[in-house]
Amino acid sequence: NVRVRFAPSPTGPLHIGGVRTALYNYLFAKKHGGTFVLRIEDTDQNRYVEGAENYIIEALNWCGIPFEEGPGKEGGFGPYRQSERKNKYFAFAEKLIASGDAYYAFDTAEALDAHRKEHEENGKTFIYNWHNRNKLENSLTISTEETQQRIDAGEDYVIRFKSPENEILELEDIIRGSVEVDTNLLDDKVLFKADGMPTYHLANIVDDHLMEISHVIRGEEWLPSLALHVMLYRAFGWEAPQFAHLPLIMKPVGKGKLSKRDGDKMGFPVFPLEWKDPKTGDTAAGYREDGYLPEAMVNMLAFLGWNPGTEKEIYTLEELVNDFDLERVHKSGAKFDPEKTKWFQQQHLHRATDESLVSGLQAILTEKQISCDDAYVQHVIHLVKERAVFIADLWEQGNFFFERPTSYDEKAAKKAWKEDTGSIMTSLSKIVAETEDFTAENLSANVKEWIQSEGLGFGKVMQPLRLSLVGSMSGPDVFEIASTIGQEKTLERIRFAIE
Ligand code: GLU
Repeated sequence: NVRVRFAPSPTGPLHIGGVRTALYNYLFAKKHGGTFVLRIEDTDQNRYVEGAENYIIEALNWCGIPFEEGPGKEGGFGPYRQSERKNKYFAFAEKLIASGDAYYAFDTAEALDAHRKEHEENGKTFIYNWHNRNKLENSLTISTEETQQRIDAGEDYVIRFKSPENEILELEDIIRGSVEVDTNLLDDKVLFKADGMPTYHLANIVDDHLMEISHVIRGEEWLPSLALHVMLYRAFGWEAPQFAHLPLIMKPVGKGKLSKRDGDKMGFPVFPLEWKDPKTGDTAAGYREDGYLPEAMVNMLAFLGWNPGTEKEIYTLEELVNDFDLERVHKSGAKFDPEKTKWFQQQHLHRATDESLVSGLQAILTEKQISCDDAYVQHVIHLVKERAVFIADLWEQGNFFFERPTSYDEKAAKKAWKEDTGSIMTSLSKIVAETEDFTAENLSANVKEWIQSEGLGFGKVMQPLRLSLVGSMSGPDVFEIASTIGQEKTLERIRFAIE
């Protein structure tokens, strides 16, 4: 029974690394007929950011990878926000104290700093584990009675995990195979904080267990925590889920991890949706607002760390569900490529049905206060889609279908509009006016016949005609344009151009 979870902390907008983690979880769940859970890890109140949870949910929905269980979608394992589960965790920490796997520690921040400094001065790193436990203030060095007294007196304490001495842990990762960790190098990590809240480690393990998570699929930055997590499962006597740590996402140029700031600095979005910072009011660009299709973003993200081992690159979500395999996820970092992202966008736009793009172009038209029926808009999309990468390009490439050109491209006009053009266009108008069934074929046949009978050069007619209708030399077949905008408008534009 496959159950996976995406467990973000609501500390800001989700960036593409987070979306990729969610996507891989989603794909894995769907492939195995499992359940995709969203758990909000909001135990750190200091880092909580207003609006982040909504953003995460909206982003998953926009991408087309909704969760099946999570906030607002009860599935028998809720609540799904850790802040609403906070009274569950202390009992688990106490359990570990009772079994001897954890202990109370009273060290102040100053005392710990002093120890750290002293070690540094001797060229050593301070590790809070069996090397140093005996010199510090904790329930292993203080009697049980005194420990209890100090707790009862309201002294601040944390609960630390007691990591074992001299043990080599063999950790299994689906992507990385087995990883060895020497417990002598591990700190006794804090499980429960002085503010009465569990740390990420404790809450995460307890919840994964209680929510019956079978596979933990998350970013590589959590690999250093794996040893502790595996030891926690062992200490509780629980069966651990299987783990898969996804490769880092690297900057497009230079070295290092792609960061949230790269988006603004390098001129591409790293967020699925636009984000408005509630404190500063600053906005950061998102793929949705930049005109990307969710299908394109999902396809691009799927390939950031995975490939099917074939030439196939363009994938729908269903196809990804079919072909995706954690075993084929790479170990090494995946370079994010904004140009390739655009390419995916172009491919998906071209594959999208004309009908599915209507509402996007209608939104632009509404903004420009142009009202047009859907059938007409769809026909225009059909004619210009090939030249577009983004929805906005449908307007850029097809605006002349909706309004008369307001200006003419200067270079083109110079080339196309000669002394005799005015009179040629006047004669052409007659042919246009006489064409009864105003289809592209009929008009094309009539105009061509007339050009031949008059012995005119083809370009002498076609170029100024295009210029009149479009305003430049671009666009699809000129007779298609004329028949689309209709006889009346075609005549009107020719007349306007002559004047
Ligand atoms: N809350 C952690 C995060 O923000 C979850 C890590 C995990 O998946 O275990 O990424």
